[in-house]
Amino acid sequence: MGGAALLILIGLSILSLYIFYRIIKAAVKNGIIEARRIINTPPSGGEQDGNRIAQINCPACKQNYDMDYPKCPNCKTGNPH
Ligand SMILES: [Zn+2]
Repeated sequence: MGGAALLILIGLSILSLYIFYRIIKAAVKNGIIEARRIINTPPSGGEQDGNRIAQINCPACKQNYDMDYPKCPNCKTGNPH
């Protein structure tokens, strides 16, 4: 009888360790997914694409700048558009 009780005890120990391992593994996996979600989500909430201003290329210095600038911020050549 003593041997059987010991076997059951060892079995329960292994089972509880396995469950504990699964919980830790799931927690780590969820943590990685959450971390990736935070990294992939920009702080602005992804609205940059809708508000992006068209870029124009300066004819004088070939620098790109926002279309709503009256002149090139680099060489002060007037915006041709
Ligand atoms: Zn320029």
